[in-house]
Amino acid sequence: MQMLTGDPPNLMDGALGTELERRGLPIEEQGWSAMALQQHGVIVQSIHEDYLRAGSVIHIVNSFALARHVLKPVGLAERLEWMNRQSVNLFDRAVSATGLDRNGLWAAGSISTFSANSDRSKLPKSRELLKNYQEQAGVLVDAGVDLFALEMLFDVDLSLTMLEAVEPFGLPLILGLTCEWDREGNKDQVVTRSLDGVSRSLGEVLNELLGCCRHHKIIPAIMHSDIDVTHAALGILRQQFNAPVAAYPNSGSFSNLRMNFDSVCSPREFANASIDWIQEGVSIVGGCCGIGPKHIAELRTRLISK
Ligand SMILES: [Zn+2]
Repeated sequence: MQMLTGDPPNLMDGALGTELERRGLPIEEQGWSAMALQQHGVIVQSIHEDYLRAGSVIHIVNSFALARHVLKPVGLAERLEWMNRQSVNLFDRAVSATGLDRNGLWAAGSISTFSANSDRSKLPKSRELLKNYQEQAGVLVDAGVDLFALEMLFDVDLSLTMLEAVEPFGLPLILGLTCEWDREGNKDQVVTRSLDGVSRSLGEVLNELLGCCRHHKIIPAIMHSDIDVTHAALGILRQQFNAPVAAYPNSGSFSNLRMNFDSVCSPREFANASIDWIQEGVSIVGGCCGIGPKHIAELRTRLISK
């Protein structure tokens, strides 16, 4: 754990899903990053290799969309175990291909709030969700992940279900909250939007979530949020949590599930923001949608030259 959150800060990888798109993979509307495991494993592996060469130490495997309730509607429920194992295997193969020592690296199993067709109203009820997350977590642990990344958390009850599913495995946890500016009320307020569509202030959500969390190896993170929102959210998080935290922001805009790559910030802009956060005490920095190997490599270079 100390190695995971030590000084100097640990570098995480960037996006996997938008990198698949950048490399020309056809975008399936239903669980498309999961489809990549079936047909384009070589590309998934090559993305991991690029992040390894860029200097990332923590790598999130491509298991974001591999819970039973995501795979079942697209007819892939029977492939669940194979796909989750494959997401870890592809990372291990990438490590072998680069000749790096696996012991100095961290493979994080992504477990997320992603739902079939990106339609959150299709998420099952909490008892079934708990079973599905437990099932996925069990396969990922068996396949060799070193920690979990719980991703795109926005709703307290859903987050607590995910925590209940993964806590018994005893691995470190990245608790990845996704935030936005309050569109209706106070424009400077950072909020998360609950499953029923209600906005709640990040401070309130954190208070409730961290108050219920018994896990001693938890690393709260702001992820899949725009850089300016991430900046404000980290300020709130650091006020409420006096221990290592992580940040892996988004950059760029989506339209119809497709990333507009021209709107993604430059590697230099990403590195500038990340270095500010590191100076404020953030222990793990990486990127989410839009952020690729060039961004991570730029940040690494800047950290080395400091
Ligand atoms: Zn993202």
